[in-house]
Amino acid sequence: MKRLVVVEPGGPERIVLDEAPVPVPGPKDALVAIHVSGVNFIDVYFRTGLYASDRPIVLGSEGAGVVERVGDEVTEVEPGDRVVFAMHRGSHAEYVAVPSRLLAKIPDDVDFRTAGAAMLQGTTAHYLTHSTFPLQAGQTCLVHAAAGGAGGLVVQMAKGRGARVIGTAGTDAKVTEVRALGADHAINYATEDFEDEVRTITGGHGVDVVYDSVGRATFDKGLKVIRPRGMMVLFGQSSGPVEPMSPTVLNTRGSLFLTRPNLAHYVATHDELTWRVNDVMRQIASGQVTIRIGGEYSLDEAAGAYRDLEGRKTTGKLVLKVRS
Ligand code: NDP
Repeated sequence: MKRLVVVEPGGPERIVLDEAPVPVPGPKDALVAIHVSGVNFIDVYFRTGLYASDRPIVLGSEGAGVVERVGDEVTEVEPGDRVVFAMHRGSHAEYVAVPSRLLAKIPDDVDFRTAGAAMLQGTTAHYLTHSTFPLQAGQTCLVHAAAGGAGGLVVQMAKGRGARVIGTAGTDAKVTEVRALGADHAINYATEDFEDEVRTITGGHGVDVVYDSVGRATFDKGLKVIRPRGMMVLFGQSSGPVEPMSPTVLNTRGSLFLTRPNLAHYVATHDELTWRVNDVMRQIASGQVTIRIGGEYSLDEAAGAYRDLEGRKTTGKLVLKVRS
């Protein structure tokens, strides 16, 4: 089977399409024939060596496809099921063996493309807005990189919960897209000072929560626009990791809460995974949430997909089409 790997950490040019045997599922695994695989920053971090990995580094952390075989102890799925998963590596391939507890069934009326595009970022936006800081009607959130994959879904789910949403983005075209997603206010943080803008918008009160996937470039300033006892949810680092800081800063900025969450801990059981995925799919079916596909690529074209993502050229979600 074909799969994408990296032998030595580095840039997108290190991505190699190689041949490997079809994996043999263990007793608790299902063998999934991949149709669509999502392109995500987490694979950038494995590819560049920021996150540790065995070699070769197998790529792809999200996929949608069909179960072909299951191990003896699998109870959650059976051959023929259409399934989706995230946070298991090796999905940029024709087949992957996935622990069955990570698999959710795809509703009949949802295609592989939508499911594969919605899984990782959709469940992330869901846990951020429903669990990490469960937004209430009337609260205000600041969402960075709001035209991006995860950010755009946070905007839509935050609106669904009745919150007031301020989104940031790096170009005027992206700012227009953020408004179209339903944000009440959109700031071009490349040309405007988002701290000043947020202060003005909130009448000096600050926001209840910041959802920050950008990291190094936005984190410090973000702490300055949160109301006392509000929360900084640092969930990514597209501009680079945040420098270490003293907890005292949280005191002086207003008894703030800081969390650095990870999707894996918010789909901790198969029940929680199923509940979250079903709720994301329900929000898509109802029209509350739109999945925007920003680009579709073949396995051969994956390096270009990652160049676009890392180069800030994309909006919405990029996917690799593995089978038609
Ligand atoms: P996005 O679609 O948001 O793409 C990244 C965006 O970040 C860019 O388009 C750009 O938007 C902005 N950005 C700002 N500075 C930079 C920079 N220096 N280099 C590149 N991009 C920059 O990506 P994702 O939604 O896939 O992921 C965003 C982050 O969220 C990643 O760090 C990812 O790992 C993390 N994440 C974390 C999860 C978790 O559970 N903790 C789960 C899912 C994602 P603009 O031009 O508008 O500034």
